[in-house]
Amino acid sequence: MISIDLAGKKALVMGVTNEHSLGWAIAEKLNAAGATMAFSYQGERLREKLEKLTAAHEGRRLYEVDVTNEAALKNMFGDLKSAWGSLDYLVHSIAYAPRPAMEGRFIETAPQDWNTALQVSAYSLVAVAREAEPLLGEGGSLVTLTYYAAEKVVPKYNVMGIAKAALEASVRYLAYELGAKGVRVNAISAGAARTVAAMSIPGFRKMTAKYTAIAPLKRMISHEEVGNLGLYLLSPMSSGTTGQTVYVDAGYSIMGMDPFDDPQ
Ligand code: NAP
Repeated sequence: MISIDLAGKKALVMGVTNEHSLGWAIAEKLNAAGATMAFSYQGERLREKLEKLTAAHEGRRLYEVDVTNEAALKNMFGDLKSAWGSLDYLVHSIAYAPRPAMEGRFIETAPQDWNTALQVSAYSLVAVAREAEPLLGEGGSLVTLTYYAAEKVVPKYNVMGIAKAALEASVRYLAYELGAKGVRVNAISAGAARTVAAMSIPGFRKMTAKYTAIAPLKRMISHEEVGNLGLYLLSPMSSGTTGQTVYVDAGYSIMGMDPFDDPQ
């Protein structure tokens, strides 16, 4: 039997709001594989929830970090260095775009909304990787979460599609630079899954109906499937893979035509 044993490994997961968060799906797998866990959350209102959610994670550490706050990032990695000395795995599961930028026409995107979306959803990975770099060594692995709208037009996704394109390109540049240290960086491109962030996308419910009709597997993905891919991409099981965007989307992204348009 092959099993993934991460006992003695240390993992930081950034961006868990509740048990439906994709970051949580990956955290559960890491914890089950034996990793010691740390979490960051954006604001104090999330602390109590996260304390309860992670209560069974022995020795876990919790940090309040808004990723746009470089001082907070530095404090967290400084504390992790004192407490752990090093870090093996990092999950970046963070995205945000101001609502008006996702309701209107893309062409109307306001510059401040563009900047906010790109800063929180893409630049933050670079900032986090820079602060984490001194703690990472051979076998280290970073994973972020992206979406198909980086590659193809998904109506209403708008500036978030641009942010995800920047995120995926950042994954490649970071993979190149950190590769010399034996550190890998990959992106998980997840299909639609019900989370707080997803429900805030205009028309998300309608989108999921369309999704299940088009995807070859005729269903949405489960949170557990994202967790499994996260575990694989972080663990030595994927030691030869870096700089990639890997899909877990029930096959949706392979379709070039809506099956209802099948000329047969
Ligand atoms: P989620 O549970 O809402 O997670 C998003 C997290 O980002 C939340 O914890 C949110 O905190 C945090 N965040 C936003 N702005 C932040 C900031 N300035 N500093 C620190 N944290 C911040 O939703 P999710 O769907 O799991 O999203 C996780 C990732 O998966 C995102 O990158 C998303 O784009 C990606 N993704 C999701 C889907 C899907 O269908 N769900 C598909 C593909 C990719 P607050 O709760 O405080 O706002």
